[in-house]
Amino acid sequence: MNRRHLHNLCALLGDDLDVEQARDEYLASLDADDGLAVLLISRDEVIAAATARPPVSRCERCGARLSRKRHRCSRCGLRQT
Ligand SMILES: [Zn+2]
Repeated sequence: MNRRHLHNLCALLGDDLDVEQARDEYLASLDADDGLAVLLISRDEVIAAATARPPVSRCERCGARLSRKRHRCSRCGLRQT
């Protein structure tokens, strides 16, 4: 399965989650081989990838949201493992 195509399709997907429209748009920019690979990606797969959110990391002590690059909580100062 080609993650790159899936990722690009998700990027084209609007708020209305119209997979076929995004696919048409994406296909226009591809050659035949890549186009075929994109046609084989199922609609459900695209929807699932587009709606999945990466897990938000939270402080172990106070539950404050942590940005991806910070390793120390900005609220309570706990160093994250
Ligand atoms: Zn904290």
